[in-house]
Amino acid sequence: MLWVVCVFLCVCARSLAVPVAGPRISSRSKVLLVSFDGFRWDYDRDVDTPHLDAMARDGVKAPYVTPAFITVTSPTHFTILTGKYIENHGVIHNMWFNTTTSEKKPYYQTQFVNEWWDNGSVPIWITAQRQGLRAGSLHFPGTASTYQGESAEVSEVEPWFYNYSNETAWRENVDKVMGSWFREKDLDFVSMYFGEPDSTGHKYGPDSPERIEMVKQVDRTVGYLRNSAASNGLTDHLNIIITADHGMTTVYRNGLVKEITLSKIPGFSFRDLVFHLVDYGPTGMLLPKEGMLEKVYNALKGAHPHLHVYKKEDMPSRLHFANNARILPIILWSDPGYVINGYFPVQFNKGEHGFDNENLDMKPFFRAVGPAFHKNLVVEPFETVNIYPLMCHLLGITPEPNDGHLGATQAMLISSEPPEVSHERLCITVILPLLWGSL
Ligand SMILES: [Zn+2]
Repeated sequence: MLWVVCVFLCVCARSLAVPVAGPRISSRSKVLLVSFDGFRWDYDRDVDTPHLDAMARDGVKAPYVTPAFITVTSPTHFTILTGKYIENHGVIHNMWFNTTTSEKKPYYQTQFVNEWWDNGSVPIWITAQRQGLRAGSLHFPGTASTYQGESAEVSEVEPWFYNYSNETAWRENVDKVMGSWFREKDLDFVSMYFGEPDSTGHKYGPDSPERIEMVKQVDRTVGYLRNSAASNGLTDHLNIIITADHGMTTVYRNGLVKEITLSKIPGFSFRDLVFHLVDYGPTGMLLPKEGMLEKVYNALKGAHPHLHVYKKEDMPSRLHFANNARILPIILWSDPGYVINGYFPVQFNKGEHGFDNENLDMKPFFRAVGPAFHKNLVVEPFETVNIYPLMCHLLGITPEPNDGHLGATQAMLISSEPPEVSHERLCITVILPLLWGSL
């Protein structure tokens, strides 16, 4: 009898200590976060999107989600990765700038300015890795940087002058993430970024036939992605979230309206400024010279019926865009349809984003499918700060302090319990403390 008990105990010990043999993919709950840049919430209304419709039937859909303000790419993506409003994560603009030297770097170059991204908040890749999971990121804004010396374990940053619209490359990237990263490397979390339909929306406008064609391409890619998950044996483990960073709205052109051009405003002079960040869609920030703040502010306030002018300390708190040293003392934004020009108009996009996040045109879409999600459920709209705690919950990790709440997305989950923890992680989280406690 003693012999039988000994053998039984040995078998139990082995089954706890050694990962279960068999398929390479672990039984842990995995998460894929996909962003299609600038996919407005209603882009599926004027075009057939069979694959997005199927994803909604098989999972969860929100009519729209509300991005953080300002509604531009790097800041709103970093909100999704950290669960923080922009004033709290510090990536306040697509462009790195230095008010002393007046140097500015455009979007792509700013991806490589480490201190711009690594300023106190860590994205979910790092949080996951610190808790024993494995993370990857493909082209997602923020991927090129390191955070407190760490980066996503597997990552790919697009080259300069990358063609963000190539459908063949999209499919190759899907195959890479599903087949190599999730199945072979057994990653737990991957973020994946596509630069469309943003580029097409800017160039041709959100109501153009070109945008409609690009939405068809996005839809085909969603179908390809879900097929790829199935053919790689991931369907039972993988939760897929597809969303975007912001929407898009038409810019009024051809002399239809009185444009906003700061140099033409009486009483305003660029000579009163140390630094300015304008000619970047509908938002702007100004740093007046010593003693000139009131003059600059008074000249601009009320100067154009569609220009909003705020001192930093008076910013509406709902926008969460004030409480950060990087935000300059005067903040400007325009109403939909208008952009803010500096000396003279230099912006000729037919579509823009960056506007107030209350504007419906700035809201992105949201779909989620996978073993954790209800099927055929439409949930209430929510803010994108809440995606981060949702993803942490799906991965079974403890989130960093953030501005979101799991309660905002809990209705879409089949169970409010954290996902099953694997044997390997049980050993680390339960058995080791027990051993240490006995020493
Ligand atoms: Zn964007």
